Parts: sequence; structure tokens; C-alpha cells
Amino acid sequence: MSSPAPAPPKSAAESAAYLASLDCVHCGLCVQQCPTYLMTGRESANPRGRIYLMRALLEGRTEPTPGLVADLDLCLVCRACESICPSGVQFGEVMADARSRLRKPGRIRRWMMSLLGRKAALHRFAGLIRLTQVTKVDQLARLLPARVRRLAAFSPRIPPKSERLPLPSFTPAEGTARGRVAVFEGCVMSVVFADVNRDTVRLLSAAGYDVVVPSEATCCGALHEHDGDLASAHSLLGQNSTAYSDPSLLAIVHNSSGCGAAFAGAGRSLGTDLGQALTTRSQDLTRFLLDHGQALRFRSVDLVVTYDAPCHLHHAVRETTAPLELLARVPGLKMVPMEEASLCCGAAGIYNLDQPEMSRSILARKLDHLAATGAEVLVTGNPGCILQWRSGIAERKMAVDVLHPATLLARLLA
Ligand code: SF4
Ligand code: SF4
Repeated sequence: MSSPAPAPPKSAAESAAYLASLDCVHCGLCVQQCPTYLMTGRESANPRGRIYLMRALLEGRTEPTPGLVADLDLCLVCRACESICPSGVQFGEVMADARSRLRKPGRIRRWMMSLLGRKAALHRFAGLIRLTQVTKVDQLARLLPARVRRLAAFSPRIPPKSERLPLPSFTPAEGTARGRVAVFEGCVMSVVFADVNRDTVRLLSAAGYDVVVPSEATCCGALHEHDGDLASAHSLLGQNSTAYSDPSLLAIVHNSSGCGAAFAGAGRSLGTDLGQALTTRSQDLTRFLLDHGQALRFRSVDLVVTYDAPCHLHHAVRETTAPLELLARVPGLKMVPMEEASLCCGAAGIYNLDQPEMSRSILARKLDHLAATGAEVLVTGNPGCILQWRSGIAERKMAVDVLHPATLLARLLA
């Protein structure tokens, strides 16, 4: 029996996602790159199967049954399938579109997401979380429902207010300035990893660059896109494209791979000149320092280090070599490779809260690989990955420090 003719997609967004889904030629090259396929062995939990399901939904050939939605929700949106795909399928775009139509976030989730784009409110909320941590009230979370317990367990330690101050709007270059760059401070980064942001500025200044931080910059919108809230994601990206429009900037430097991926896709997502300029000029910190940081000098160190590639840096920004080449400039530092270093660690935004079992299974596989390296330090450039690795390492009582590349390099500045 012949299948019914596909119904045409109803909107431009559906149409873009639909066209992207048609690029898949079902070759299956992506299948073995997919973490959820490696863990389950199911066709509907790999990229090819998911594209088939999403296309069937767009054509009206199937309904969003609970099983189908569960298979789509299990996707980490790590985009490992994109970087190997010979047909250039924009998997992330198809999945974001599917989530925007299938997901109906509750009030608390919408409020949490909205916080990310409101800097002052986010910092006030962080202050409250810190209070519960300092007074140990957070430990009462174990009496609450499982979801709240997980949230509390994954909540990072919030540093004191004195360590969460915003970056200065201008930091001069050390010595004669070679140019001017902007740094993207981020939302989660500015609360939990403000020290990494300070190290980022320090490295850029030591490399001879004036550093600016525009006050109008906001959250990059990556978590909103991951969650299917495309309107908020695009609105935040639009604000950032204006905030970083100063033509004198040599680069817009990011130190969080999720934010970098959002900026790398701004031209395509926004379809504006400002969005394209944001895409063209944004660079990961390690790439910028590798190409422009010849003035940096590092002291010698006796340290065994391994590197785990954040998915969005590796598969979306496609920056695969700069972190390794930059670390290789440190005298005495010994890099050891880790198996499956470009496989997702299971953090994936807030995936570790939404899909705790799959997240933990993937992390367990990665921890085995880490143990086999014998490294003393694991370097990775994304806040979610750092927290995920630290939680797994603490649970296994391993003696491995997890550091952002900016932290390690700033510590070793001569
Ligand atoms: S590699 Fe690309 S074309 Fe091949 S099955 Fe995967 S998504 Fe489709
Ligand atoms: S984005 Fe990652 S988890 Fe999702 S289908 Fe692609 S490889 Fe699998």
C-alpha cells in the first residue's frame, strides 16, 4: 500500500526544519557517534531514527505519542551527528523546532529560564541559594520530591558576593595594546564561574589586548533553544548582536562552549547582518590566544593533563584543535589523550536534571576513560561539563582536578 502524500509544513519555521530533515540520506554514519545509541542500541534513539520520526511528525504521518516524545527527549542535542554528517544535516535546528512544538514547560521552568536573561534577578536568586547553602537549609531538600532533590544535588556551590562581581567594563592591555576585544560574560558563568571570567580577562590583557565588556550583553539563549523556546533564544541573541556591534572589536571572545555555539549560529538563526557579524567575529578563548597570544609566557610545570572536548565547541563551533595546541605551549605539561574525548559527558544544558539515568550512564563510561589516562587534571571549557565531571569524580573519590583552560593557563602565567 502506498503511503499517504505528506502534508505541507504549516509555517516558515516548520518549513526550514522540514527542509533540513530532507537532507538526511539515511547513510547511518552518525549512528555510532550518538551517545544515546551507544547506551541503548535502539534505532529510535539515534540521529537517523530521530530525523525519521521528526519528519514523520512534520508530514502528519504520525502522532506525538509518549514513546516518540520520550525518544526525542532522550537526545542530548550534543550535535555529534552534525559534525560527521556528509549531507550537512542541521540536526540541532530540526530538534529545536520539534521541541518548540512538543514541549510545554511548566511555570517554574519558564520562570527559571526567564531568570537567565535578567542579570540582576539572577544574582539575587544566586544570593538566596548561597544563603541556603551557608546555613545548610539546602540539606532539607532530601525531604522534598525527587526532582527538587536532584536540583539541589546538582546546584553548584555559589561563591560569596565579593567573588561574583561583574567584570570591569574596560581592562587595559598590559604594555602596548595590539587591539581591542570584547569578552562575553554569560549568565551561569557570571554567577558560578566568575573566577574563570576574571582569568579570561587577565589572559587577554597579558596577551596585549584591551578588553571591553558591554553592559547591554545578556544571556546567549543557548539553554532556551535547547529547551525549544526559540522566541526567547532569538530575542536574547538579537540583544547580544547589538551589544557587540562595535566595529572596532577584533573579536568577541567566549569561554563557554554553549554560548559559543549560540553565537556561531546567530547569523543563521537571526538572518540579520548584525547576527552574521556576531557569528563571524566570535571566537573561543583558546582559538584567540593561540592565534594572537604570542606575548604570553608560561612557567614550567610538572603536570599530567587530559582534555575532554565540550560538545558544542567540538561539534557546533568546530573548534577541535586550539585548546590542545595552546596547552602544548606550557613547558613541562604532559598531555595524555582520553578515549572518546569528543563524546558528550552527559551534562548537556540541564539534561542531567531532565534525564538523570541516561546522564549518569554516559558519565560512568566517561569516568572509566578518565581513570585509564592517569591524568591529574582534566581540562574542559564549559561550565555544565565542569560541574558534571566534578560530581562524578567526587562520587568515585578520584584524585583528579577539573579545570577550565582559562584557570589553568592563568595560574601558569610567567
Ligand atoms: S550521517 Fe547525516 S545523512 Fe547519514 S544518517 Fe546521519 S543524519 Fe542522515
Ligand atoms: S544530537 Fe547527540 S544525542 Fe542527539 S541524535 Fe545527535 S548524536 Fe545523538
